[in-house]
Amino acid sequence: MGRYAYVNGSFVRHGDASVHIEDRGYQLGDAVYEVWALFDGKLADPEGHFARLERSLGELRIAMPMTRAALTIVLREAVRRNRVREGLLYLQVGRGVAPRNHAFPDGDVPPSVVVTVSAVDRAATEAKAAKGVAVITTPENRWGRCDIKTVGLLPNALAKQAAKERGAVEAWFVDDLGFVTEGASSNAWIVDAEGRLRTRDTNANILRGVTRFTLLDVLREEGMEVDERPFTPAEAKAAKEAFITGAGSLVLPVIKVDDHPVGDGVVGPMAMKLRRLYIERARATAI
Ligand code: PLP
Repeated sequence: MGRYAYVNGSFVRHGDASVHIEDRGYQLGDAVYEVWALFDGKLADPEGHFARLERSLGELRIAMPMTRAALTIVLREAVRRNRVREGLLYLQVGRGVAPRNHAFPDGDVPPSVVVTVSAVDRAATEAKAAKGVAVITTPENRWGRCDIKTVGLLPNALAKQAAKERGAVEAWFVDDLGFVTEGASSNAWIVDAEGRLRTRDTNANILRGVTRFTLLDVLREEGMEVDERPFTPAEAKAAKEAFITGAGSLVLPVIKVDDHPVGDGVVGPMAMKLRRLYIERARATAI
């Protein structure tokens, strides 16, 4: 069974999919992206991801390539053609193809659009979640607009590689004041030593995670309090529990920070409960 990608208006075999060498996303990182979790072949958290896509594009003055309704049809068709039920959908929208110049091209250059779909082995990811993962910390070295979901991910890629080389799955950036901002591809949370659920507020230079946002909504519904206040790596090490959220990780328990066990060094009840609640909500609201 083949994989297919959507590239600028057509579905092509994944292995043959390519973009122009003067695509501004390729040369300048002048593009934004979204990643949806797929549950039973449906897009999770649709509203949050579409709203953030429109916001990221607006901040960069790139036009939506088509209406939300048309884009939804393209995304669903990409899922259908790839026959994926449980997985991830990647959408990239860039400023398009133009002779290489830093400033925006003159005239009407159509935005470039790429969609890929990949399958996720849910049994394997559930097994990983049940064991928990390790994270490392690393100095924050990204630009000042991490709220825009751009493909300029070199610091994130380097941090993730450093994590991998130390047997961890995520790197938490730490700002000049000594507080964790977020992970290289996830938001960071703890259940602190006093039992309070904490995650950084979105006035900070972080991505407004859609999974984070949905989880906050679930928590409100459950009547559970959350303190949107930054924490330090030392507080994370002294915490009862820690976890990360994102379309890829969903809600993933963290059992080690910089080789230091969090709590008892095993997956805690809060992270697993929130994982279950988030997945239930996401499955029920996917389109
Ligand atoms: N923070 C960063 C830097 C990310 O790249 C991501 C996801 O890729 C997240 C947070 C989590 O965002 P979301 O929950 O919307 O996937």
